[in-house]
Amino acid sequence: MKPRILIKQVEWEGQPVDILIEETCIRQIARTIPVAADIEIDGRGKAVIPGLVNAHTHAAMTLLRGIGDDMPLMPWLKEKIWPNEARLTDEDVYWGAKLACLEMIKSGTTAFADMYYHLPATAEAVKEMGLRAVLLCTCFDRFDPGLAEKSKREVQRLFARIHGNHPRIRFALGPHAIYTVSGALLQWLHAFSEEHAIAIQIHLAETEEEVSNAVKQFGCTPVRYLHTLGVLSRQLSIAHGLYVDDEEIRILADHGVQVVHNPASNMKLASGVAFRFVEMRKAGIMVGIGTDGCSSSNNLDMIEAMKLASLLGKAWRKDPEALTASQMLYAATEQGADILQLKTGRMAAGYPADLCLVDLHIPAFTPNHNFVSNLVYAANGSCVDTVICDGNILMRNKKVPGEEEILKQVKTRAQKFI
Ligand SMILES: [Zn+2]
Repeated sequence: MKPRILIKQVEWEGQPVDILIEETCIRQIARTIPVAADIEIDGRGKAVIPGLVNAHTHAAMTLLRGIGDDMPLMPWLKEKIWPNEARLTDEDVYWGAKLACLEMIKSGTTAFADMYYHLPATAEAVKEMGLRAVLLCTCFDRFDPGLAEKSKREVQRLFARIHGNHPRIRFALGPHAIYTVSGALLQWLHAFSEEHAIAIQIHLAETEEEVSNAVKQFGCTPVRYLHTLGVLSRQLSIAHGLYVDDEEIRILADHGVQVVHNPASNMKLASGVAFRFVEMRKAGIMVGIGTDGCSSSNNLDMIEAMKLASLLGKAWRKDPEALTASQMLYAATEQGADILQLKTGRMAAGYPADLCLVDLHIPAFTPNHNFVSNLVYAANGSCVDTVICDGNILMRNKKVPGEEEILKQVKTRAQKFI
């Protein structure tokens, strides 16, 4: 039995409410709830939001934060990221993922999709830190049939080990990109995902170079290439999707493919700015928001990501009415949850108790004429005071247990990358 939690008089949609949490779920939200609880949280001066959903990241890349900044994508990957990643141990990834979880908790994220290596080490970190995660098994074959077989064995091994073994962790597939994964392996992964009803996420249509190489190598653009391979499905989400034309948007919509926008990474790597949020939403595509990894973003702050997504979208479209604050909050909560196939991202009775209390007694929320506007445009992750996930309190008064040890471990381990 978990302690029963009662949050008293917290602001929700402009009104003070009480929120009762029993076991892993929100039991009731009402003007007042006259019951005794094991833990009572004073919500006065705070507002509640659903826990944010980071729909695309590489958690343990916290270890590589600040390495290889100010470089284009391919040289950055080849010279700085891949050689350093080859030196990572299970224990490095465990501590890197713990730091990522710490950073996410401190900025209000309660669920994330992670594409990385040493997946059991990340799973261990997620279990201990109390978040929810969809762990994508990273697949590469570099067009080598031997590596493709190795990748398939790895998928089967990790599926057996991780899938369905923990209530807060989902196993999924993460083929890296069309320039690192062969069509044959993509088709095998697609069949595996259909057979076991598990999600797939791939980096796609991220740069102009990727598009022109796809045209040279496969005779068509990235989305059309996946379409001809027959691997588009409702299980699939694409990270980035910066370079898609009208017909490709229709193709994605027809197949129920979802898209995750990563504005900070797209700007920092100068991949592009013209993410077609409005057209995708109009076509019925689910669009979520991700931070991408800490070496391309360089943090995991989803409140900052919402602001960047909105401002970037307004700027390139020259349309101040596009990508509103409330659309961004929806993308970063409900929509992200739907993309990850998780029942979270909503404040309602019966839903998992995944939520954050935001401190209203700070300059960013003063005055507070419009809470969502202040949250997206004025605040950043540091406004988050309390985080609850799956009915457990992960942070209270901005303190996360074990924080010092995580910082110490990562500082020491990161020495080897200098
Ligand atoms: Zn990524």
